Amino acid sequence: MINACKKVTYTTRAEAKKAAQAVASRFGGKRTPYACHECGLWHLTSQRPGDFREKKKQWRRAVKADSANINRTAAAEKEGDCA
Ligand SMILES: [Zn+2]
Repeated sequence: MINACKKVTYTTRAEAKKAAQAVASRFGGKRTPYACHECGLWHLTSQRPGDFREKKKQWRRAVKADSANINRTAAAEKEGDCA
């Protein structure tokens, strides 16, 4: 399997959880294991689930802004055809 991520990876959730606990006891803070969509393995994140939601919202806004630009471009091209 090609490892697409440069992050530390874990092959199972149990392994990631164990590592998260080890990191937490050594350095403090909370790490949450999550399954990565890119490499299909497990990573640890210190982000709260709320941060993921916020990122998704930002991404949606970016997509919306993009499609607004595309619509404007299409309208401008249409005007050009008429002239
Ligand atoms: Zn990954």
